[in-house]
Amino acid sequence: MTSLTRRRFVALAGTSLAAAPLFAPRAVGQAKPKVVVIGGGPGGATVARYVNKDSAGAAEVILIEPQKTFTTCFFSNLYVGGFRDFNSITHSYDKVEREGIKLVHEAAAAVDRDKREVVLAGGARLAYDRLAVAPGIDLKWDSVPGYSEAAAEAMPHAWKPGAQTQLLVRKLNALNDGDTIVMICPPNPYRCPPGPYERISMFAHVLKSKGHRQSKIVALDAKETFSKQALFMEGWEKHYPGVIEWQDPKMHGGIKGVDAKSGEVKTDLGTYKAALVNVIPAQMAGRIARDAGLVDASGYCPIHPESMKSKMDDRIFVVGDACIPGDMPKSAFSANSQAKVAAMTIRGELTGSRTFPARYSNTCWSLIAPDDDVKVGRTYEPGDGKLKAVTTFVSQKEEAPEVRRQNYKESLDWYAAITTDVFG
Ligand SMILES: Cc1cc2nc3c(=O)[nH]c(=O)nc-3n(C[C@H](O)[C@H](O)[C@H](O)COP(=O)(O)OP(=O)(O)OC[C@H]3O[C@@H](n4cnc5c(N)ncnc54)[C@H](O)[C@@H]3O)c2cc1C
Repeated sequence: MTSLTRRRFVALAGTSLAAAPLFAPRAVGQAKPKVVVIGGGPGGATVARYVNKDSAGAAEVILIEPQKTFTTCFFSNLYVGGFRDFNSITHSYDKVEREGIKLVHEAAAAVDRDKREVVLAGGARLAYDRLAVAPGIDLKWDSVPGYSEAAAEAMPHAWKPGAQTQLLVRKLNALNDGDTIVMICPPNPYRCPPGPYERISMFAHVLKSKGHRQSKIVALDAKETFSKQALFMEGWEKHYPGVIEWQDPKMHGGIKGVDAKSGEVKTDLGTYKAALVNVIPAQMAGRIARDAGLVDASGYCPIHPESMKSKMDDRIFVVGDACIPGDMPKSAFSANSQAKVAAMTIRGELTGSRTFPARYSNTCWSLIAPDDDVKVGRTYEPGDGKLKAVTTFVSQKEEAPEVRRQNYKESLDWYAAITTDVFG
């Protein structure tokens, strides 16, 4: 930004908000600043779209994403439960591209922070003025003894979307009455805190719909408590009595190992032979963020809560599941909310345009049974050096069916709105 532009901006900032332009025009002949985004999920694609839209062509935006289409993890549980088909949770980048964002369908292999370049898997280099990193999570395969990428072909995790979720659904639909399902639930912090328990609900719903009366679901948890626990427990008792057995670490004594060939899961206190084992391992930031030196000892990326800027590099922003989100959960809603703050800051830094104090929000809906949906939501602000919760609302036990039905309707509206916001 030239000093003239900065002075002009400061002068404008003193005028009324309505009179201030969102972006400052670029001087003729000046090269456009380059914004590179790694990862085309709810975090990365939102950064790309908002920088592109709000800088009105003043910045060049490049989105690096190896996949040609994006299947959402959010609402994948509704696909598991038979409430959505696979196509309805799969989105193309056509509209993003038509808006003028350059799509590079290749993986980013490295970030050269000294030269400010991203190295693509094919060896090409892309220079950046600002980089947004949003690769989501990687699974810690060895957090469950005996589990591996190969074992996931027999015992799906389905915690990254696409083929894994389809495999989980095929295995679920092939179960016979009397078969056992075992889920291994992950330790904190992981993507979508209520996700495993909504999935358990969807498993139970499918068993019930098929008239299976003898099957059981055993959930072996790494945690002593979980998100919306009282609401899930109440719903399970109401809709699926006697079907779901949830065990905390004191009850199972620890997971000793899984055997993908035999379908066995060993805990300190017993061995389960299951027809379907859903292993959700511990998680960490996606590899590119780790290799770029953006993570701390937790395996996730520390950020400044005012901007979503990396604490390791002030030209890099980290949004979504890869970051340390303070009080926020790792969710698509959070990723989208964080991305808008990052995009605003990037736009402000590169075009000298006005920015506003960071505000964030999240709501997570969970479907327990048809039309029985519970939710938890919060707003957040920078505070105590993190994204700090400010206000909270959560569903209550024994709510009227109409309230729960309304929650479900809200969740459908949210899905339509967020996928339009992310993918156009
Ligand atoms: C079962 C389940 C249910 C869920 N339900 C909900 C819900 O109801 N509501 C909600 O808000 N959230 C939900 N979530 C969580 C939500 O899916 C994630 O929090 C969200 O997808 C995170 O977005 P992200 O952009 O950070 O990462 P991702 O969505 O994982 O996107 C990351 C993208 O980066 C790309 N990428 C990775 N590495 C590279 C690289 N080196 N180069 C280029 N690209 C790369 C990947 O291909 C991917 O497309 C759920 C998750 C699960 C598993």
